[in-house]
Amino acid sequence: MNKYILAIDAGTTSSRAILFDKNAEAVEIAQYEFDQIFPKEGWVEHDALEILNTQLRAIRDVINNSKIDPNNIDSVGITNQRETTVIWNKKTGKPVFNAIVWQDRRTASFCDNLIKNNKTELIQSKTGLVIDAYFSGTKIKWILDSDPKIRSQANDGELLFGTIDTWLIWNLTNGQSHITDPSNASRTLLYNIKKDCWDDELLSLFDIPKNILPDVVDSSSISAHIDAKIFGAKIPISGIAGDQQAALFGQLCTDEGDIKNTYGTGCFCMMNTGKTFVKSNNKMLSTIAWRIDGELTYALEGSVFVAGALIQWLRDKLGIIKNASEVENLANTVDNNGGVTFIPALSGLAAPYWDPYAQGTIFGITRGTENGHIARAALESIALRTRDIIIEMEKDAGIKFSSLKVDGGASNNNLLMQIQSDLLNTNVVRPKTTETTALGVAFLAGLATGFWKDIPSLKSLWIEDRSFEPNQENDSEQLVELWDKRIKKVLRINE
Ligand code: ADP
Repeated sequence: MNKYILAIDAGTTSSRAILFDKNAEAVEIAQYEFDQIFPKEGWVEHDALEILNTQLRAIRDVINNSKIDPNNIDSVGITNQRETTVIWNKKTGKPVFNAIVWQDRRTASFCDNLIKNNKTELIQSKTGLVIDAYFSGTKIKWILDSDPKIRSQANDGELLFGTIDTWLIWNLTNGQSHITDPSNASRTLLYNIKKDCWDDELLSLFDIPKNILPDVVDSSSISAHIDAKIFGAKIPISGIAGDQQAALFGQLCTDEGDIKNTYGTGCFCMMNTGKTFVKSNNKMLSTIAWRIDGELTYALEGSVFVAGALIQWLRDKLGIIKNASEVENLANTVDNNGGVTFIPALSGLAAPYWDPYAQGTIFGITRGTENGHIARAALESIALRTRDIIIEMEKDAGIKFSSLKVDGGASNNNLLMQIQSDLLNTNVVRPKTTETTALGVAFLAGLATGFWKDIPSLKSLWIEDRSFEPNQENDSEQLVELWDKRIKKVLRINE
């Protein structure tokens, strides 16, 4: 009897493997961080082979440590950092360039040209996206243009493109399956999310040959098998979803209007919009949530590039904390931010500003400013960026959200969650499992094989950990006023 689902969670900073049982409890977990490569200002790369190797190690660890027979793994779900772009040689399996990470801004000027050439409407109506260096399309073009040899190998059908899901599946199937799912495809700038297919007009706009693209399969279906030689069993791969869409599913936001916010490296707020592609009038993204039994579910998304990454910066560059969770105690050493506002534009600003040139700035430093004020302002900035987005999303949805489901590493920070609730004047609800990304793709995998029966039967598995209610005594108005004034000062896109 197969007892477990293996979730592969290929994140931005680490490779994780988690075994879930039928009660959706994580029974074994392993995780390895990998290098973040910053070759130039605004550039962010990963070594795709290091991602593969750390991922394989994490999977082997959970199998060995739990002492389970790999034959007892029902199926595998893969969720991944989205947009990050890998191009590799299909004969040698070697990447032709480092993976260009979603945060990378090197293609910003090419995006500016697209905007100047009036491509915004064309791209938004087909892909649901705004024109920004964030998405894969311009990164693929950049790699192909970086070397005439790479371009000619691509034209000759020797290269393959994939986001991290595709790269891992290709390797786990020993080169047998070159696939992705619509949630990942919808982040490339090349996928027509209305017609559910790669778009020839966009491929020609970006000068990308179609033969490098993966086939697009359902997010929940047996679409490939892990080669038996790798872990000793031929395990079905039956769930694939980009990390934010997986988190939406893991929070069981499966009905139209359901909304969640994930606090990881960045913050990603997503609302299920059902079977309809809702075009945003407020610079949110329209995207595919998942495809099940051939039917698409759509979502609206607001992205913040830097959230938990700001806490990493406090740890690694400023050195005022030793680990991420210490930031809460440090912020609690002061009663308020002491007039400090932290604009976390460390990789430009995403929704709703979409300014790749904005730079991180700390306002209001005096001789009395302490580390605690900086820590507090950093936490507030994460909650304020989320507020920026939720206000615009509420306009698109035409409703005020009454509660917000949260997850991700930084959602374990109680002070941050309280600040969020105060700023939104809304209940903030955290589930017991904050590993919702991995759980979501485990759900997708297990639904495809019959491990779990159907979506309604999953609802009892969502258990609340804690709810944060707005505290009227916390004065958020002044905070917002200063924020709105100061964030305008870092915008440079129209200079
Ligand atoms: P990802 O999947 O994007 O790699 P995770 O969901 O694993 O991210 O969350 C990790 C991020 O959360 C890191 O950027 C880390 O700095 C931040 N983080 C973790 N714990 C806390 C905490 N207690 N308070 C604030 N930030 C935290």
